[in-house]
Parts: sequence; structure tokens; C-alpha cells
Amino acid sequence: MSADVEQFEFQAEARQLLDLMIHSVYSHKESFLRELVSNASDALDKLKLEAYRNKDLDVDTSDLHIELVTDKQARTLTVRDNGIGMSRDEVVELIGTLAKSGTARMRQQLRESEGGDAGDQLIGQFGVGFYSVFMVADRVELLTRKAGESDATRWESSGDGTYTIAAVADAPQGSSVTLHLKPADAEDELGDYTAEWTLRNLVKKYSDFISWPVRMQVERRAPSAEGSGGEDAKDSVTIETETLNSMKALWSRSKDEVTAEEYTEFYRHIARAWDEPLEVIAMKAEGTFEYQALLFIPSHAPFDLFERDAHVGIQLYVKRVFIMGDCDELLPQYLRFVKGVVDAQDMSLNVSREILQQDRQVTAIRRRLTKKVLSTIAELQTERPEHYRTFWTQFGRVVKEGLLSDADNRDALLRIASFVSTRDGAESDPEPTTLAGYVERMKDGQEQIFYATGDTREQILKSPHLEAFKAKGYEVLLLTDPVDEVWVQNVTEFDGKPLQSVARGEVDLESDEERSAREAEREEQGRAFAELMGWLKETLDEHVKEVRLSSRLTESPACLITDAFDITPALARLYKASGQEVPVAKRILELNPEHPLVTGLRQAHQDRRDDPAIAETAELLYGTALLAEGGALDDPARFADLLAARLARTL
Ligand code: ADP
Repeated sequence: MSADVEQFEFQAEARQLLDLMIHSVYSHKESFLRELVSNASDALDKLKLEAYRNKDLDVDTSDLHIELVTDKQARTLTVRDNGIGMSRDEVVELIGTLAKSGTARMRQQLRESEGGDAGDQLIGQFGVGFYSVFMVADRVELLTRKAGESDATRWESSGDGTYTIAAVADAPQGSSVTLHLKPADAEDELGDYTAEWTLRNLVKKYSDFISWPVRMQVERRAPSAEGSGGEDAKDSVTIETETLNSMKALWSRSKDEVTAEEYTEFYRHIARAWDEPLEVIAMKAEGTFEYQALLFIPSHAPFDLFERDAHVGIQLYVKRVFIMGDCDELLPQYLRFVKGVVDAQDMSLNVSREILQQDRQVTAIRRRLTKKVLSTIAELQTERPEHYRTFWTQFGRVVKEGLLSDADNRDALLRIASFVSTRDGAESDPEPTTLAGYVERMKDGQEQIFYATGDTREQILKSPHLEAFKAKGYEVLLLTDPVDEVWVQNVTEFDGKPLQSVARGEVDLESDEERSAREAEREEQGRAFAELMGWLKETLDEHVKEVRLSSRLTESPACLITDAFDITPALARLYKASGQEVPVAKRILELNPEHPLVTGLRQAHQDRRDDPAIAETAELLYGTALLAEGGALDDPARFADLLAARLARTL
């Protein structure tokens, strides 16, 4: 190694990923070319914009292009661009590490996977960019010079854990990546990437819509001139440069001129994704604000959907010039899974994020796109229920965030939402219902939409809160996403029907006849339990604000209810997790007057009111009610002690 060549180690995660690439049995190895062409295309976009914004940048942008160069003897393929290039530090930062967000998740998944199929799925799930070259090459050189700088950098690696970096005095501006290809091996899905025909097809297949020319030198054979004739007449061979891609901006073409494959490849290019889009939305707005939009709803949630710095996946173009990716101004956060392109006609190429935030045109586009995405989901719901279901499973949790932030579209959001409910009992794969479906099935005389929140469906189904609803055949929506806890505070009704938590306030499930028939019995019970309830309230004063008889319970002795306007314990926990302290509201203890524990406690209290064991029973009763709803005890050790002592006495 000469003195000016430095050796570096890949960062640990990068090394794991490289290892995965080298041993991959992934069947789409050829997609390395899409990754390289995409990177080159981005680099050209960046240079064009930079040159426009920075007039001092002394670069020639008159012939921006991508070039494929092959050498059959040396078995190399070079992908070259005259785009923005990279500085030495950028090479180390961008190529030597996994600089992308969500690295922690990826690292974890890498650790869990052990190559083979799992590894392949990972490649499919994350897309692996530049490193995919190691699926097809055993040595790779990157020569790059950043626009505006004089020194260039040569990076080289065999993907084996280390790479070298050297300064190079003269190199053309831009980047060129040279792959020393592994031998072609059809069984291993390795094509001959020096063959003109192969490359031509791959560019067509993956990169046709790239807006920069992808050129290659091709041999043209023309039959030799007439008259020379004879068997051994040689064709004359000329070398020509051919542009392999059509460069048509897909969003400017009408939907019926574009094939599904073209849309898929375009989606994969802009979203850096490897799945199929579930739905394609093409829009064209004319009039005051002219723009075209091409949006995709993915079929899989990306791994970073819930990262703190997750961005909206829309690229902004102005008159076909790429301006910026991750354009958060063009769609609300809760639609951040939508990927696509917006190309505006009448915006300045100089727009910055700051300007975008106040731009009337941008606000108008955002409103239109939002409505269009929501109406597309509504269409999926009625016309392609299977797709809708996939969609909701993948993205429902995100969409529901809109119930908090987007009051204008609240009704549309409620209509496209779906929830599992008690309708399917404990089936393993319950069919979610829409709110409209729920309302249709409401019982005669039922005025509210009942729901229960909790960590899992199984847990809610066993909660005491549900007992009377089950016994009387009322359907209850089961809400298990953390965001559900929050939006139910904001959304009070659907279609004129109030939303009512089964664990909050008073519920009345009885018909008028039942109520009047039981009135006398109720009053009697009220009198009989008055003393016990008064004493319990005092004894459990630290935890409960009221003790009353329940109409919710059929099997359990007691349950805890949140008062109509108080904050629920789950919500208090969520606030706490996000760093906000909120005072915990005391709850209401409801008793089942039919339960032997409750009647027994009443009797014991009458007979031996000063016996400390009775107060302990009260504590145990409170604790079990809390555990039954999936809650957490303040002092679990004390509860365990009391219970152990009590059990010991029964033996
Ligand atoms: P991704 O493109 O998904 O960000 P890659 O691993 O393909 O991930 O590339 C990492 C980064 O390296 C790119 O984001 C880009 O900044 C830089 N890069 C890659 N190829 C080029 C290129 N041809 N010209 C300039 N920069 C490049």
C-alpha cells in the first residue's frame, strides 16, 4: 500500500450488511444497477440545483448525464456521472457507515437474522443502496470529485470489512463506480453485466423514467457495402453512443399511457423501496395553480414510520427540476407513508423550506392532495376490500394520528378507519368493522357507540368492564393502538352518535321496562350496601373518589371506572412517557352486589367492623379490580404480601 493510501474499517453495522450482500441468495441481484443509476441521477439533480443557486460554482452543466462503460476482458462495469460528486469526508461518512435514520432498528433486525431467507427479506425491506454492488462484484472502486473542489478521492473495497481511501490529483468532476464483476452464473442469478443486451434491458426495466440520459457505447453492425458479396464478407462495425432510457417524466403522462411495471419501478426509485405500490394516484391541476402529482400508497410500512424524525415522502419539482425531497409541507404528517412527486409550474426554482411554509399555493396543493389520498382510501374500502385491509393493517395507526391534528378531515378519517370489535368474539383473525358498519348493527334503543381501550384485544376481552356488554349482546369496539387512547379524547361522536368508553362514567344498558322492574330491588340494594360503601370510600380514600353499585358487572366482584371528565390511567401513562406530568385522577370503584366476595365483605363489616383483616380485604378487592383491567398496582409488593398471608390462612 503506498504512503498516501489509508485503510479504514467499515462501521460494525455496515460490515454486517456487507456480509449479507456478499453471501446473499437474493434473486434480484441485477437491481444493483438501479441503485447506482438512482444515486447518479440524484447527484445530477443536486448539481443542477446547486449550480442554479450558487452562481459562483464554476461547473459545466450543459451535458449532465450518466454513462455505462464496460470492459469485457477486464470484466468491469463502470457507472459514471458528472453530478455533484463527494468530498473525502463525505465518502467516509456516506459510504463507510450506515448514515440513514432507523439504524438502530436495522441493526436489531440484522442481529436477529442469520443470512439466508431472512437476509433476503431484509434486503427487500430496507433497500440497501450502494452496498448492493457487492452482490455482483468482488471489488469496487469509487472515484469521485466534488463540484467546486480540485482534489478527488479514490475509495476501494472488496467488501471484506475494510476499505481504502486515497487522494487523487486529477479526476473528472462527478463520480464513477467501477465494479470488478463476479463471473456470470445463471444459477446464482448473476447475469453478464458487461453484455450490451443485458444492460440495455436493465436500464429499460428499472430506470427508464430517470430524467437524465443514461448512455452507453454500442456497436452497430452494418452489412458490408453491396458488391463485395461472398461468404466471408465482413460486416462493418461502428461504435455509437446510445441513450438507453426514454427520460419521460412519468407524472406528466396520463395514467393509461403508463404500465403498472413502469409505475412500480418509478415508485421504487423515488421511495427507495422494494415493494409494490398498493395504489397509484395521478393528479393534474390546471387553472390558478398548475401542478402535476403522482403519489403512491405503499403496500408495506417502512421500518422508520415511527422514528422521531420521520418525514413526509414527497419530492418537489418545479418545471421538471428537482427541488427537494422529504417535502413536509405538501402532506400532513399522518400521511407520511405516501410517496411521490409534485411538479409545480409557477413556483420559483429558488424556493426554500421557509418560503414553502407560508406559500399559499403550497397550502392549496396540500389540501387537495390530502383530500385525494383520503378519498382514494375510501374507494379502496368499497372497491378493493382486500387492499383496504392490507392498507389499514400497515398504516391505520398512522392515519389515526390525523384524528388529533386534522379537524377539517375528521369525518373523512373516521369513515376510512376500521376497528376490531367484540362482534367476532375471540376469533384469531377478526374482521375489522367501520364505524358505519357498527352503527348499522346498533341494537334498538342503543344511542352510543361503545368502545374499550387497552394494550391488546385479548386483555380487553377479559376486562370486567365488558361483562354486561357481553351479557346483553352490545357490540364494543376494541381499541389497542396507543394513539387510540388520545384521539378518543378529541372525537366525541360519529354520525350524531356519541362515542362512549365502557370504562368511563355511567352506563345504562337496561330497557325502560327492565329499569322500572328493577327499581325497587335497586333501592333495596342501595340501602343494604350503603354502610359498606361509605366505609370502603374512607378506607380506600387514597385511590378512589367514589364507591357505587355497578350495572356493568355480571361475573367479577368489582371494577374501576374513570369519571366522565377525568383523565384515564393509560393516557396519564402516555403523557408521562412523553415527559409531561399530569396529576393522576382518582377513580370510581363499582361493586357487583351479587358477588359472594362483596356480600361476604358486607357481612364481615357488619359483624366485626374493627377487624383489620376486613380493611385488608378491601385493599385486595381494589387491587384485583385494577389487575383485572390490565392496570398496574402502586405497591405490588404489599399486595403480594397481603395475598400470601391470606392464602396461608386458608390452608
Ligand atoms: P441512499 O442513496 O439510499 O441514501 P446509498 O448507500 O445508495 O444510500 O448512498 C449513500 C449516499 O452516498 C447517498 O445518499 C449520496 O449522498 C452518496 N452518493 C452515492 N452515490 C453517489 C454519487 N454517484 N454521487 C454523489 N453522491 C453519491
